[in-house]
Amino acid sequence: MSAQVTVWVLGDQLNRNIGAMKAADPSTHLVLFVESRAKLESKTWHRQRAHLVITAMRRFAAELEAEGFKVDYRIARSLGDGLAAHRAEHQPKQVLATEPASWDGRELLIKHGVELIRTDQFLCHPEEFEDWVGARKSLKMEDFYRWQRRRLGYLMDGDEPAGGKWNFDSENRERPPKDDRSWPEPLRNELDSLDLAVLAALPSNCWGAEPDGTWATSRSEALRRLRFAIDEILPRFGPHEDAMLSTSWHLAHTLLSPYLNLGLLHPKEICDEIESAYRSGLVPIASAEGLLRQVIGWREFVWGSYWHWMPSYRGRNELEATRAVPPVFRGKSSTQMRCVESTLGAVNDHGYAHHIQRLMILGNLCLLAGVRPEELVEWMWASFVDGAEWVMLPNVVGMALYADGGLMATKPYASGGAYIDKMSDYCKGCVYDRKKRTGEDACPFTTLYWDFLARHESKFARNPRVAQQVRAAHRLSDLDGVRERAVEVLLRLDRGEL
Ligand code: SF4
Repeated sequence: MSAQVTVWVLGDQLNRNIGAMKAADPSTHLVLFVESRAKLESKTWHRQRAHLVITAMRRFAAELEAEGFKVDYRIARSLGDGLAAHRAEHQPKQVLATEPASWDGRELLIKHGVELIRTDQFLCHPEEFEDWVGARKSLKMEDFYRWQRRRLGYLMDGDEPAGGKWNFDSENRERPPKDDRSWPEPLRNELDSLDLAVLAALPSNCWGAEPDGTWATSRSEALRRLRFAIDEILPRFGPHEDAMLSTSWHLAHTLLSPYLNLGLLHPKEICDEIESAYRSGLVPIASAEGLLRQVIGWREFVWGSYWHWMPSYRGRNELEATRAVPPVFRGKSSTQMRCVESTLGAVNDHGYAHHIQRLMILGNLCLLAGVRPEELVEWMWASFVDGAEWVMLPNVVGMALYADGGLMATKPYASGGAYIDKMSDYCKGCVYDRKKRTGEDACPFTTLYWDFLARHESKFARNPRVAQQVRAAHRLSDLDGVRERAVEVLLRLDRGEL
């Protein structure tokens, strides 16, 4: 046994065909999994998130055993302890692992003498991203996305983009439909004995609703959801991808991100399906391009940016934000803000909110209120089924909170109630009035939006994308009243009384 090589599979590398697992063979390789109690206790995880990762790890381990691998599945105090116990028992001549997706994971494995095999879990490796960055002074997602399209060849007609243009965003930002249309209900599975065993052993501080079988915990079920997403969701995806409805937590979102982020699906599989559906005439170009943009554009841009800017990126706090995450985010209070209540309801029930709810409701509120970036990163990482540091750092520090001073986004994504009203059905029936910025029933977003612009005038006065709004804030006849109301709003937010 001691002549064998071990492949250590981390919890977000659950794929037989990537990195170190690609060349693994049952006759020559052991496979190691370590469930770390320290990791499990490091955050107050959403129950569905913790359940998904652990159950998917165990099912993947069982699949490898069925293939003939000897699997050493350990539950240990820490990852390092699990590795040490494995080495002591099996004495492998070498331990390999696919390059981890997190900075700390990579440091840890290097420290423990694990040989890292280049990851191909993404379509753009961080080294390729660096080649793209080259001498660029600023990184623009749209440039990166077009570079990806050209080199990967998706939705291309020769050198030209299919449909005649690169970007169909203008067709994909429609307001919520006013009809009572229904949206395809996500696939579900019955929970089995493994699900129940994992749930029963979760730490008592896990929060959120019990899993209802929405999230797949195996490769085969993830593939079934991919088929469903392409056949049933993709034709409807696109036009309303930025819309928010209190009556549907998923609308026409594919819900595939957790499988991509755990390795149960590979981005190439999704892109191949998008290409095929478009070429077969089953989906319009705007829908196909909209989803492709998410997969090879935003997702891979965020991944590359994380590695480009780490490790100093973690400490960025350009707007010197000092507030804690509001207690309502932690379920310690309720709220009368209908938009926040509805979004947090989806997070509680499903460990999920779509990108606009994350950016323009939760992120926007934290930006306007001045929440510490590292706190919101931790909260989102622990609360969403697709959370990971590489996802959350650029999305929170860069996109939502402008804490990197504009490396990711050319302007702060700040808005008052007007944008939320335009893109959702939340404001009708809310006790607050989205048009009012002062008074007891003023919309907290609207009050805080104007206060934010005035508060950060020196930072944004020269930013061409927000300078006009900053000037408008200073022309408000009731700016003193807005500032007074903002103090009251923030106090209530902190107390959980908003
Ligand atoms: Fe949210 Fe303001 Fe609209 Fe209420 S009025 S739902 S608080 S944006």
